[in-house]
Amino acid sequence: MKLGTYTFQPQKAQGFDFHVLRVKPETGIRLQPAQDMYSNIAVFADNVAARNHPNWISQSSLGPAKMGNNNYNIYWDVVCATQPEHRAEQLNYIADVDKRSQGTWLNSQYFADHGHCICACCNELWKKSGLSWLEWRRKEVTDYIAQIREKVKKELVLCIQPDPVSSYERYGVDFDDLAKYADAFNVVMFSKNYATPWYWEMLARGFKKLLKKPFYISFYVFGPGDNPKDVPSASELLTVSVRCARAGADGFLYLTDNASQIRDFQKAAVEKVELRERLRNYGGQPVQEFLDFVANWEKII
Ligand SMILES: [Zn+2]
Repeated sequence: MKLGTYTFQPQKAQGFDFHVLRVKPETGIRLQPAQDMYSNIAVFADNVAARNHPNWISQSSLGPAKMGNNNYNIYWDVVCATQPEHRAEQLNYIADVDKRSQGTWLNSQYFADHGHCICACCNELWKKSGLSWLEWRRKEVTDYIAQIREKVKKELVLCIQPDPVSSYERYGVDFDDLAKYADAFNVVMFSKNYATPWYWEMLARGFKKLLKKPFYISFYVFGPGDNPKDVPSASELLTVSVRCARAGADGFLYLTDNASQIRDFQKAAVEKVELRERLRNYGGQPVQEFLDFVANWEKII
């Protein structure tokens, strides 16, 4: 069991095994990588690329993959996943970032969602392929991951959406294809609360059954600009972590804007003495390992 932080700022909180820095989040803004942190890059979700090249935005019969299109869970603009110039630029960027950090964690390395992309370029590629539309999308995603794997010399972790059933139809993602290239997966389970941990545990069990590589789960702690009243409580985070630990997750990441919010979470977690004691009864070795990890924070808080 390994625990990491997942931050927008290049700051490392104490008491974790590793740190992932969002060097290029979906806003498209680029930070300098840090040699002692992993780098996370959103590949096709990229507001800057979409603003500079509006004709690159992924298209569907339910409208473009633009922030504000409520047919989709899209909170940013997404570039077409076959756009050749964006693909080439991202390959070089990923190679450069990989050299300057501990390794590479990618997200949004697939189609925007179901029904994407029907732009002229995609239509032409699909017709030429001779494949069904869904199989053509899968091949586009997998072939690009293979190209990325050649560029990434260090650890490559592929983030996936928390949908174990429909990722093929929605994103063109085949977990077995990706497992050939990924060192590990990161299942992003962001939520403003984890009040019903049963559902998250069920998703974790689903992924444990399907994924052929180790997988992390990322939990939401405190995003940029959040109101402290609107974020998950330490009790919820401890409970959902324990439940997903017993379901077979290989580690967890905790998302915040900066390191001080990670420390706030650690402090609040340490104070939940009674809850941590009760959670000891929730499962075997992985649960005990997670709770031992949290108990170690007592020394640094
Ligand atoms: Zn397209």
